[in-house]
Amino acid sequence: MSDFKGKLFVFSAPSGSGKTTIVRHLLEQERFNLAFSISATSREPRGFEKDGKDYYFISLKEFKNKIKNDEFLEWEEVYRDNFYGTLKSEIERIWALKKHVIFDIDVVGGLRIKKKYPKETLSVFVKPPSVDELKIRLKKRKTESEEKINMRIAKASVELATAPQFDKIIKNYVLEDALKEAEDLVSDFLELNKNKE
Ligand code: 5GP
Repeated sequence: MSDFKGKLFVFSAPSGSGKTTIVRHLLEQERFNLAFSISATSREPRGFEKDGKDYYFISLKEFKNKIKNDEFLEWEEVYRDNFYGTLKSEIERIWALKKHVIFDIDVVGGLRIKKKYPKETLSVFVKPPSVDELKIRLKKRKTESEEKINMRIAKASVELATAPQFDKIIKNYVLEDALKEAEDLVSDFLELNKNKE
């Protein structure tokens, strides 16, 4: 029998805080043995996003069916009619590969996962310098309409208030520092340094 025990790393933050950059960076670090939890969503693919890589893009109807069948570990209507959720089968898929799971999800979902797997999960909140800076970053990204950007900004203020409920907070003011800090947190939680001693 394998003694592999999978861990869960939740990175949550308001949209535009840079958490996706941090998560991608961590995924590149082979020593962490991480795999990305691909969420299901009812929103349309953006830009170069691929089904089964960035998200499992499914219809609203299919999403609601999966809710009914209790297939989600957690799910959320993040924006109106835009549902996002973590399928239970996704965690099983990754743990079967003997990898740890890393999540890029909203704060409510992140806290739910922590609650369901308190010991196995490290929950991290990525804090942007300010709400104004978030707006600038979202505008630069040019992937959403003004209306959608405003929707995301309105949600950001509510999300920022949940930061103290997370195990750790990373201030993403200078990206290099945030990346290093994220690496240290993952390394400590996996006890990688301890195993070397
Ligand atoms: P986006 O549309 O920018 O890809 O994502 C919008 C928000 O939904 C982000 O805050 C993202 O982290 C969150 N999100 C993505 N996947 C999930 C998920 O599986 N569950 C929950 N609760 N939120 C998610």
